[in-house]
Amino acid sequence: MPTPVEVGSIVGKTFRITWSDGHRSTCSWKALRLACPCAHCRGEWADGRTVDPSSIREDVHPMRIERVGAYALQPTWWDGHNTGLYTFHMLRFELCECAECTAARSARAAR
Ligand SMILES: [Zn+2]
Ligand SMILES: [Zn+2]
Repeated sequence: MPTPVEVGSIVGKTFRITWSDGHRSTCSWKALRLACPCAHCRGEWADGRTVDPSSIREDVHPMRIERVGAYALQPTWWDGHNTGLYTFHMLRFELCECAECTAARSARAAR
């Protein structure tokens, strides 16, 4: 499993991670916030959605991002929400929006 060697600035337009295998991930802050895996966000919607997209501001971004052990990142969002632990696996394989991963994901979905 690759690990992040560099995590982009929280004031950047999107979230960026450079991985130990050289892959560069990018993900919009809003998509990242919507994917919050914490029990609170997951439990809000019975149909499996996480967070109501209309409740998240377009320009949402974190105040800081901390690394949790060797497996996750924990952002503290503008609104103080910080209970979501984003595992490296999730960031790399579910949330990465780079051209390569987007193409790979839609190829999987088309099958
Ligand atoms: Zn949450
Ligand atoms: Zn990617």
